[in-house]
Amino acid sequence: MQKLTSYDAFSREAIGDVAITSAAEIDQLVQQAWQAQPAWAALSLAARQQILTQAFEQLVPLQDQLATLISREMGKDIRRAGYEAGGTIQSGAYFAGEVAAALAPESLGSHGEIQYRPLGVVAVISPWNYPLAMANNLLIPALMAGNSVILKPSEETPLVADAFVNALNQVLPVGVLQIAHGDEQTGKALVEADIRMVAFTGSLQAGKHIMAHAASGLKRLVMELGGNDPMIVMADADLDAAARFAVASSFENAGQMCTATERVYVDSRIAQAFEEKVVAYASQYKTGPWNQPRVNIGPLANPRQHQQVLLQLQDARSKGARFLLGRDDYALPFIEPTVVTGLTMEMQLEQEETFGPVVAIAHFDEIDQAIWRANHSPYGLGAVVFGGAGAHAVAEQMEAGMVGINQGVGGPGGAPWVGAKQSGFGFHGSAAGHRQFAQVRVISR
Ligand code: NAD
Repeated sequence: MQKLTSYDAFSREAIGDVAITSAAEIDQLVQQAWQAQPAWAALSLAARQQILTQAFEQLVPLQDQLATLISREMGKDIRRAGYEAGGTIQSGAYFAGEVAAALAPESLGSHGEIQYRPLGVVAVISPWNYPLAMANNLLIPALMAGNSVILKPSEETPLVADAFVNALNQVLPVGVLQIAHGDEQTGKALVEADIRMVAFTGSLQAGKHIMAHAASGLKRLVMELGGNDPMIVMADADLDAAARFAVASSFENAGQMCTATERVYVDSRIAQAFEEKVVAYASQYKTGPWNQPRVNIGPLANPRQHQQVLLQLQDARSKGARFLLGRDDYALPFIEPTVVTGLTMEMQLEQEETFGPVVAIAHFDEIDQAIWRANHSPYGLGAVVFGGAGAHAVAEQMEAGMVGINQGVGGPGGAPWVGAKQSGFGFHGSAAGHRQFAQVRVISR
């Protein structure tokens, strides 16, 4: 039996291991999932909601343990890890109820009805940056729709996923929710197995691979992929609010967030004042291990991620970027708060998702230039515009699934979480999102 070892993101000491699921074992899991699915699907929506609610109650005493595992496996500070664990646990019952409402049959009067039926067996493949929340967002609608689910968590965060699934399985019927461990090889075997849908959160590169391999069985897809989110700061923006947001959104989760602000385009007339404020706010952030007080930027999740950020910073320096704060030669495992200006389109920092605590700034003279450049990306997850009344017209021109005006993206609770262009398709949240996990069936009578 091959083992997958999990490491502490700060100390790199081994903290535990799990057995890697072989391709043959994947086939067994899929068979068990198919065996369990009809009885699960035969339950009413209300019954599934009740069972899931009870299952989530098992997690309540585990909140601190789950938070600590998140912190240790991927590095975020314990306060943020607590929000993630607590938010996931608390949202379970409410989320299940919301999905139940969205999946109730819709009457077509005397003509018949529209039904939202199970698809069968669904694979949920999740990333490490929000290891509980990202899995949960896709698990709940998939289960509520009457599917059985096989979760393939990130190989960086197997222990927290294991603890989560084991607790839920104290209540869920056997075979309805199972876990497959391993890296992309395990993911590939799962995508190619006898399943009906892949609900994926992760990188664009992996998403393309999954889409190609799902094609032969025409498997349903929800693809929640990467982003390279722009922020436009107009001349009449509230500069203090804009600077505070630029820093907070670039540094959240050490920048390892799909909707982190990755590129800031600021009107040259106010650029100097904006940059001074950005540097002042950025200087207040403190890096450190997850369990130290006042730390708000943890270590990068792994050495590969650390190296990726350094290479982008070094590329930017070699192409003329100026460092207003920080350097391009940090030792493992931290990237200190970094602010770079003079961003150009030739730099990797502009072209690629950075996933590190970096504010990257470019100046513009004409708003149309900024809009063009903000949209000049294969990605289209989020975009943010800070400005006066004209910000609304600029926001209308953003090629993104989610646009924030003088605030972050995502909307109020219950809104869809959705990308445009190569940030994916299919989505979760809202009635339309919940229905992505079901087969629509129209009954005429
Ligand atoms: P990743 O794509 O490397 O891995 C994600 C998961 O996919 C892991 O479980 C991995 O083992 C698996 N995997 C990788 N290649 C695969 C393949 N060919 N076939 C099947 N499975 C495969 O991503 P990551 O580094 O874990 O996460 C970071 C990425 O996730 C970033 O790009 C980030 O923007 C994105 N993300 C997007 C959202 C969103 O809501 N759109 C949310 C969180 C993270």
